[in-house]
Amino acid sequence: MNNAIPPTGAALAPDEMTESAGRVLLEILLHGPLPRVELARRLGLSGPSLTRLTKPLISSGRLIEGLARNQAIGRPSRPLDIDVHSERFLGVKLTGAALYAVVTDLRGTVLAEGERPLTGTDPAQVAADVADEARHFERQFPPLTGIGIALGGRSPDGRTVGEANFLGWHDVPLAALVEETTKRPVVLANDVNALTQAQHWFGAGRGLTSLAVITVGAGVGLGLVTHNQLVGGLHGGAGSIGHQFLMSAEATCWRGHRGCANALLSTRAIEAAAQRRTGEPMPLDDVLRGAERGDPVLRAVIDSAGEALGLLAASVANVVDPERIVVAGEGARLGVVGEHAMLRAFHEAQAWETTETPIDVQPFAFNEWARGAAASAIHLWALS
Ligand SMILES: [Zn+2]
Repeated sequence: MNNAIPPTGAALAPDEMTESAGRVLLEILLHGPLPRVELARRLGLSGPSLTRLTKPLISSGRLIEGLARNQAIGRPSRPLDIDVHSERFLGVKLTGAALYAVVTDLRGTVLAEGERPLTGTDPAQVAADVADEARHFERQFPPLTGIGIALGGRSPDGRTVGEANFLGWHDVPLAALVEETTKRPVVLANDVNALTQAQHWFGAGRGLTSLAVITVGAGVGLGLVTHNQLVGGLHGGAGSIGHQFLMSAEATCWRGHRGCANALLSTRAIEAAAQRRTGEPMPLDDVLRGAERGDPVLRAVIDSAGEALGLLAASVANVVDPERIVVAGEGARLGVVGEHAMLRAFHEAQAWETTETPIDVQPFAFNEWARGAAASAIHLWALS
């Protein structure tokens, strides 16, 4: 989103009005309620410009006027706010086999959640499954304002899935397919970017202007916020660090790289390492529990993966220098159980000895992927 709002005077073209109104809505959504003076200051607007932008938002009900809080200074100041319960959003995370959904209010609070297996991976079938889920939740929360769909792929325009290898999709117009049935606005997002948006707005990155979110799970990903903006990249591919080389190792990823992040950190990589060392197939949770109990073999497996995570975090810190690094994703507990090895590698590989970038390992529930998708739908609402 463009940051420029003409400060005073000249009338805005309709497009500029929509964009500027979107910035007003987002500012209040993320930091409200805000007195008008404070809002104008934050956005660099004159009083009259702000009034011109907020008037239609108030009359349409998108903004509400709060109670006067300070009448002692003369004219009562009525802060502007948003009725968080006035809108409901459906967020959907797609995997290759199932969809996970949440309904949220305007500030990303989860009101309901659900999951269902996909009836197939054909785009029309997946669109029908999403529409079924929307119908299901619409009975409880009518009407849904918008739908966000997050998936491990690229969608540079938020309308078409450019590439999603886990579904075998190229150039699939998924948003249009779902809109046809649901009659609700739909936006698509890369799942890591959507999760990062939600963390920045409503989670561990709230109030920060820069943030890096490393996700660990089926794959390894990175979401970036700099100057308060999510970094998307020209093709929607910013943050694709899953195949970043980290260290010399025998382990290979599904694309044959030796020692890339996916080969060392992904759930299947850790499970494979445990199986090589013990001779037994073992789910990630058991490997983590064993390491916590002090099993020396499983401790070595987790420490080795923790070291790789620390190296990856150091690379991110060296390139971006964010205010905070958040570790999320369904495999994030690696950053707790393997914390010591992770932090040691992180500090050794950081370029600046005096820089202390905090690493925040978040407890992770799988529905946070879907909550990220809802944040994308909330973004679309603010900008439309
Ligand atoms: Zn790889």
